[in-house]
Order: sequence, then C-alpha cells, then structure tokens
Amino acid sequence: MLPPMGDNVVVSNMELERLLSMKGGKGEGSYVNNSQAQAMHAKSMLHLLKETLDRVELGDSREKPFVVVDLGCSCGSNTINVVDVMIKHMMKRYEGLGLEPPEFSAFFSDLPSNDFNTLFQLLPPMANYGVSMEECLAAKNHRSYFAAGVPGSFYRRLFPARSINVFHSAFSLHWLSQIPEAVTDKRSSAYNKGRVFIHGADETTANAYKKQFQSDLAGFLRSRSVEIKKGGSMFLVCLGRTSLDPTDQGGGGILFGTHFQDAWDDLVRENQFHHCHQLHLKKS
Ligand code: SAH
Repeated sequence: MLPPMGDNVVVSNMELERLLSMKGGKGEGSYVNNSQAQAMHAKSMLHLLKETLDRVELGDSREKPFVVVDLGCSCGSNTINVVDVMIKHMMKRYEGLGLEPPEFSAFFSDLPSNDFNTLFQLLPPMANYGVSMEECLAAKNHRSYFAAGVPGSFYRRLFPARSINVFHSAFSLHWLSQIPEAVTDKRSSAYNKGRVFIHGADETTANAYKKQFQSDLAGFLRSRSVEIKKGGSMFLVCLGRTSLDPTDQGGGGILFGTHFQDAWDDLVRENQFHHCHQLHLKKS
C-alpha cells in the first residue's frame, strides 16, 4: 500500500455535517443501488425489532397519532421497508386486542445533505387518502402512514418533547459528529498522520475517536430521552468489531480501513494530477 498523502482531512465540525451524505439519485453508484448488505442484515434482525415493538405501550389510539422515526434513513428503500414493517406490526397489535388502530405518522430523518427528493419519490402512494383509484391500483403497495422528512443531526434535538413512540436507527451511529480535533493536530500525540482511518494507528489516536464516540452517543441518548413518549421504545443497530483492539478495522475478512484509505488516496492523487495537468497546460 502507498503511504498516506499527508494532512488532507481538515474539515471543520459544521462542514462535516453539511458535506456528509450517501450518494443520492438512482444511478449505479447511488445508495439506493448499493445498500443490499444493510438490507440483508436488517432482514435477519426483524425478529428482534418485533420483540422491541411488542414492548411498546399502546396509548389511547383516538387521541394522538402513533409516531415512528427512522434516524439516519438515507435515501434507499431500506428505510421505507423498515418503517412499513414497524407500522404493520403495530397495527396488528392493536387489531389483535380488538382496538381501533390509530393513525400512523413516520418521520424520515437524516442530515440536510441527504437526497430526500429521491426518498420521497420512492414512497408508495398513501392508501385511501386523496389518491385516485387508478393510482392505487397501479401501485404495487400502499402506505398506511403520513410521511415527512426531518433534516438535522441526530446528535441534537430533532423533535418536540414526548412526541415519539418508536425510534429506529440502523447502520448510522458509527458516523461521528466530527473528526476528533487531536487526530488532525500535528502537535498532538493522537495525530493520525493524515490517515482517514485508524486501522493500525496508535492507541492515543484510538482513544481520541473513542472519546468522540462516547460524547456523541451521550448527546444522541440525551436528545432521544426528551423526545420519546412514555412507554415508547428505541431500536438501534450499530456496527461493531469482533476484536478487542480498537485500532483493528478488519473483520468480516475485509480490511475496511485500508480499502477506504486507498480510495481516499486515489481521489487525492487524481486531484493532484488534475492540478499538475492544468499547470502544465498553462505553462505550455
Ligand atoms: N439506515 C439506512 C442508511 C444507513 S447509511 C439503512 O439501513 O440502509 C447511514 C446514514 O446515516 C447516512 O444516510 C448518513 O447521512 C446518516 N448520518 C450520519 N451522521 C448523521 C447524523 N449526525 N445525523 C443524522 N444522520 C446521520
């Protein structure tokens, strides 16, 4: 592997939030077309999700809508499928008890840079409400909930206090709110020498990331604890590692760390080449 390309990861905190997104659209490289692995894992965990939903307290269905949220929804069909599963399961619970199901509302939440347009286009039409019979018949499936997008970072408040029955978040909480400052500070012992991943890095670098994760997760939990309704539940799917060593980004037979580093270095090199080429053209 070629050495890392130097200090090329200076991105400020707010900028990271504005820049980070999965690839939008429906093209070859889009998240829509590259999220089958997540879909497969989500499917294998459905029984756990349903166990969580079985513990949610059923409120007075005539009073308020039942509200579910997917945090870090991105723009694929995974989020639509999981919301569908959640709402159908809750409906069954109400019906099983001989209760009239409430109206359901789903919030799809992600950073503002997420491609919400694509997501909204993927949503099936709403059943019964305001959709023509032809549209209903033409669509493969329907949606039995009101949908809305909520832009913002899940590390802060996103919803009014005590307004949400179920929070769901999958494969998203490993995205930190920022690069720990010490990691890009040349004078710090945690300086990561310009690398974008911690595979094989020093323990101090790993600790800086760990601290960032702990304070981010604390912010996440603090916000959700205010927003969740009494008797509500939360289902979180986080990526983990099998090794105890925090600088080991292997696992699953793939060295994620070095792959991402290689891809990053390629991009930097491409840009440098582009610049050199332009200079050359200017000179000649
Ligand atoms: N849950 C989806 C998508 C996972 S991709 C699925 O299972 O397929 C991870 C998503 O987390 C991305 O869309 C990314 O934009 C989002 N994300 C990362 N940091 C975030 C933050 N601080 N607040 C909200 N969303 C965030």
